[in-house]
Amino acid sequence: QAKREGRNTVRLFKRSNSSELLTRLGLVHELNQAIEEQQFTVYYQPQYSFSQGKVTGVEALVRWQHPEKGLLTPYHFLSEAEEFGLLSQIDQVVMAQAFNETKRWHDAGYTDLEVSVNMSYHLFNQVNVLDIVNQLISDAGLSPKHVCIEITESIALNQVKHAKETIQTFQSLGVKVALDDFGTGYSSLSQLRNFTFDRVKIDQAFIRQSTGDDVDAKFVEAIIHMAKLFGFDVVIEGVETLNQLVFVRNNYADKAQGYLIQKPAPKDALALDLTFKQMTDEK
Ligand code: C2E
Ligand code: MG
Ligand code: MG
Ligand code: MG
Repeated sequence: QAKREGRNTVRLFKRSNSSELLTRLGLVHELNQAIEEQQFTVYYQPQYSFSQGKVTGVEALVRWQHPEKGLLTPYHFLSEAEEFGLLSQIDQVVMAQAFNETKRWHDAGYTDLEVSVNMSYHLFNQVNVLDIVNQLISDAGLSPKHVCIEITESIALNQVKHAKETIQTFQSLGVKVALDDFGTGYSSLSQLRNFTFDRVKIDQAFIRQSTGDDVDAKFVEAIIHMAKLFGFDVVIEGVETLNQLVFVRNNYADKAQGYLIQKPAPKDALALDLTFKQMTDEK
């Protein structure tokens, strides 16, 4: 262990000059403090279901209310938090908030609303991950069937057996598991075969280029149809325009998520009653 840490330290020094290093050490200190002082907050983004004609779920997205820098998105701290071993804790803070909030939405009448949370490599590969998640769900008084765990394929690359078992155990508890950012990794196709995902989220990169150019449109069409053939619930991420929304609906995607529908927002600013007509009229 000491040896490993020693090597990491050397790497850290070699890669960065001393002022970069100070910045990074400062960030680690700030991140630790942020966890302690509960500076992390959760934004939510609705997922709209075409077949049900309403918002059926929300994705929880972490934000850091930094005392001086203001509200920070994951881009500004997530990879550092991961590198310094803090992301598992942050994930748990996010889950606790998101599950509690979802329970409040249920009590307010949105009785079937589902919540999706993103799970880091570290937490997913922790031996007690199932106990942790199960405990957080029951602490919130939520039913597991209203929870979906989003993982990316990189989570499963090194420990395929653990990944398969963990996914299946989550599912046996009633928790759904989604493959996030589908299509961007090394082994996307085999991931669909090897793992028993409930849901696949097609990466934003695909929809970005999907309308206008016929070839790209066919590409997205093919991805959606393939995921459907495997029986997955298909979510398209990053829908920003009306053309894109209509395109994915016409190609039988189950759900859409993106700025057109709603940008991620704090709990009190969410539009959970959104209709298709409102989405298409207002823009
Ligand atoms: P993700 O899970 O793929 O989440 C979707 C990201 O795309 C979010 O960025 C969201 O704000 C953004 N987005 C949604 N719709 C659109 C759109 O129409 N256009 C564009 N350009 N972007 C859109 P965000 O919130 O900055 O999060 C980035 C990534 O950070 C997430 O990607 C996820 O991988 C990670 N992340 C967020 N929250 C957590 C968390 O609590 N735990 C962990 N481990 N990772 C998290
Ligand atoms: Mg996600
Ligand atoms: Mg994604
Ligand atoms: Mg992503």
